[in-house]
Amino acid sequence: MSKVKSAVQSHGQCVCCAVRFEIDVPAVWAWHDHGEASRCAQGCAYATYVGTWNSRFRWLQGEEELTRYEDSKNRTTRSFCRRCGTPVTYEKARSPRFINIPRSLFAERTGREPRYHMNLTDRADWTYWGEPLGPMKGYPGVMRERPRKKRLDPLED
Ligand SMILES: [Zn+2]
Repeated sequence: MSKVKSAVQSHGQCVCCAVRFEIDVPAVWAWHDHGEASRCAQGCAYATYVGTWNSRFRWLQGEEELTRYEDSKNRTTRSFCRRCGTPVTYEKARSPRFINIPRSLFAERTGREPRYHMNLTDRADWTYWGEPLGPMKGYPGVMRERPRKKRLDPLED
């Protein structure tokens, strides 16, 4: 286990709580990944990660509950809790001393806001991008996008 390197830690865990970990705050950075691999692995429109040095990351419980998938094409390795399926780590061969963790697993602030977007050109065209919403008649709590002639696209002028 690596030694604590700051006064504040941020803690995270998987859905079933078998796997627990912490990072030293602040993290190095936080970013949104719009790439297809992360979209599929995480089951979402885009994945938001917190990245930090391995030396600032510690397992607190359940490392043995992880199963790993090595993506040889993209030279990445992802780990998941084998009990609940929660994606826990995302590592890249070109950055062996760095680890990325889904931001959603942290209960506390990590010291970095996700201000960076990676692989934007691969983003799903169905990603919600802040279009105006209105209530759906007869379905309390359900909001829907209003019909538009042209979809808001931040990559177009
Ligand atoms: Zn779990």
